[in-house]
Amino acid sequence: MTTPMRRKKGWMNLKIDKIVEETWDTKTFFFTDADDGDRPFDYIAGQYLTFRYDGVSDKPVVRSYTMSSSPCEEGFSACTIKRVEKGLISNWMCDSLKVGDILKARGPIGKFAYFPETCHDHIVMVGAGSGVTPFISMMREYANTLGQEGSPKKMTLLVAYRSKNDLICWDTLTEIKDIPGIEIITTLTREDGSNEGFWQGRPDPEMLDKAVGNDYSNKTFFTCGPESMMDMVVNHTTSKGVEKEHVQTESFF
Ligand SMILES: Cc1cc2nc3c(=O)[nH]c(=O)nc-3n(C[C@H](O)[C@H](O)[C@H](O)COP(=O)(O)OP(=O)(O)OC[C@H]3O[C@@H](n4cnc5c(N)ncnc54)[C@H](O)[C@@H]3O)c2cc1C
Repeated sequence: MTTPMRRKKGWMNLKIDKIVEETWDTKTFFFTDADDGDRPFDYIAGQYLTFRYDGVSDKPVVRSYTMSSSPCEEGFSACTIKRVEKGLISNWMCDSLKVGDILKARGPIGKFAYFPETCHDHIVMVGAGSGVTPFISMMREYANTLGQEGSPKKMTLLVAYRSKNDLICWDTLTEIKDIPGIEIITTLTREDGSNEGFWQGRPDPEMLDKAVGNDYSNKTFFTCGPESMMDMVVNHTTSKGVEKEHVQTESFF
């Protein structure tokens, strides 16, 4: 029998415990239950919380943020938030939120989630910018269940960033890249980093072919990032015979 997921009803109070500066425009916020200092809910890697901001504008505003932490990390969860130009909440979070502050959130929810039992043995994730957040969570979860019956054998992440100044969650990627079965390919779209092992340019069909060695069999694809990139992944993988239920997308808009 599986243990039921722990969920709090309604709006939870989450206390910011730690803030990590990822890049010039992105921060990771770690939080716990304001009431008891624990993690108030269970979740599946890839799911998100909906936050409510009461004092930022004249009316309450809500925004969703995916957990970049993984369910296997006990006692806290974290979201990684990238500033959007002229964006109300992303800039307020990065500029004004402090350790000790309390945020209201509900959830977690989301179907863009890591269910190893419904995935093929090789999971391929294609992300860009802040769209890397669900994949950080999924890779940590994969690492935690490595070798267990029913867990996938391989995970490939193809992630695009503008430049070396934009490498969101780079410490985590560096830490997990040597875990057996994990392959991380980073491509830069606006800077040449080819002599340091980076690929060049935006993910396109040729890059995807190269990332999977032109073999689309027995793979489950996840993609999160700009619509044009996700459309490319869906169109290209399905044209190569990947079943629609094995190509999952998450839009941050
Ligand atoms: C399911 C889900 C999960 C998400 N997870 C994350 C996450 O883990 N990390 C993260 O940083 N963001 C995430 N987002 C995006 C986040 O919810 C906000 O949309 C984003 O932070 C912008 O909010 P804002 O208030 O700063 O901008 P707004 O004031 O809402 O918008 C300002 C301007 O930016 C444009 N805009 C809005 N959203 C985006 C965007 N995502 N990218 C580019 N331009 C945009 C708008 O069209 C508008 O012109 C997620 C969104 C969804 C739906």
